[in-house]
Amino acid sequence: MIWNKEAECQPEKEREKLQLERLKGTVRRAYYNVAYYQKTFDKAEIKPEEIKSLNDLKKFPFTTKAELRSGYPFGMLAVPQSEIVEIHISSGTTGKPVVAGYTKNDIDLWGEVMARSLTMAGTTREDIIQNGYGYGLFTGGLGVHYGAQKIGATLIPVSAGNTRRQLDIMQDFGTTILTCTPSYALYLAEVAEEEGLLNQKKLKLLAGCFGAEMWTERMRDELEKRFHLLALNIYGLTEIIGPGVAQECKEKCGLHIFEDHFYPEVISPETLEPLPEGEKGELVLTTLTREGTPMIRFRTRDITALHRGVCRCGRTLVRMDRVTGRSDDMLKIRGVIVFPSQIEKALLEIKGVEPHYQIIITRPHQLDEMEVQVETSRKLFSDEIRHLEEARLDIEKHIEDVIGVRVKVTLVEPKSIPRSEGKAKRVIDKRQL
Ligand SMILES: [Zn+2]
Repeated sequence: MIWNKEAECQPEKEREKLQLERLKGTVRRAYYNVAYYQKTFDKAEIKPEEIKSLNDLKKFPFTTKAELRSGYPFGMLAVPQSEIVEIHISSGTTGKPVVAGYTKNDIDLWGEVMARSLTMAGTTREDIIQNGYGYGLFTGGLGVHYGAQKIGATLIPVSAGNTRRQLDIMQDFGTTILTCTPSYALYLAEVAEEEGLLNQKKLKLLAGCFGAEMWTERMRDELEKRFHLLALNIYGLTEIIGPGVAQECKEKCGLHIFEDHFYPEVISPETLEPLPEGEKGELVLTTLTREGTPMIRFRTRDITALHRGVCRCGRTLVRMDRVTGRSDDMLKIRGVIVFPSQIEKALLEIKGVEPHYQIIITRPHQLDEMEVQVETSRKLFSDEIRHLEEARLDIEKHIEDVIGVRVKVTLVEPKSIPRSEGKAKRVIDKRQL
């Protein structure tokens, strides 16, 4: 099922024309209405009128989260505040948060792209959507809400949390579409299983749109097996619009980016140059139709690759891979790119290992060495030394299998790695580069 066939299946050449028209307008509006863009474009000695092709976008400077924060609260608005009908604020772990302002047209656009997303998962007006994304400043809840209203489906705005109630509603109302984070969906599945709801086939779930955090194919398998539904990936971010930037179709071969509204590039996080199709790098997005807070070349820090060509579902929209890491925590060890999240994933697959670890990188003889200090469970640590050594070698082998680089693993006592109130410091880089 396709919500907007004209837009989603438009021939690529035609879409490029539309993108170029919209890009010209956006860059102009950003430059003449937002002091920040005026300053950065002037510094880069580039004028909006220099956009003659989509390729010219790469001459323009990037926008980063740090720069958006400096505009707090109204500095990034491209319209008078009186035209803003809604504001969302992204939670930041450091510094001031990022503000997204929506005009009436922006809210309409959000409903449109979310209607496309939900329809991609099979939603029609006959469906009952249980929306387990949080309502509030976080964009998840309201994004799904607007999309569901556009479709005319029955939406239950249960919001995040309250597991007992979620399962009651799921059962009593015969929820067919579930929207929430994948980790919460998995938790719901576990509780539902414990309570026998799954064995007795008391649920009517057909599909779920899961996102707002990184997840794996393994988690998809788990969710599909337990809930007997189709688990699809949805992607978005507050800086661009919220959820509804991209959505996976039933073919599960990547997430279709709604590129008639959000123009994607993938750049090398090292050289900052655009990469060819299919190569992994950092996703950069430019809004093409946003009025309130247009974004020019926003660095998402999410690592993915783009794939073109007509999808088996009939859509011509470019597809992005599932996000597998963030460029702001990317490491390069002996030329191989490694993400702490991969190491974390590898560790969590091993019994008796706690999710507390620290990565220490050194370069003793002109060659990078990576040591992973891992906390073991109390039980494992009190075992005989022989067992400990076996466990250590197991972990080394497993990490090497996952990341492709040999690392040294050191097992440390439970609770010996410093805990942090905010974001844990996972990497200590001692190389002098
Ligand atoms: Zn498709």
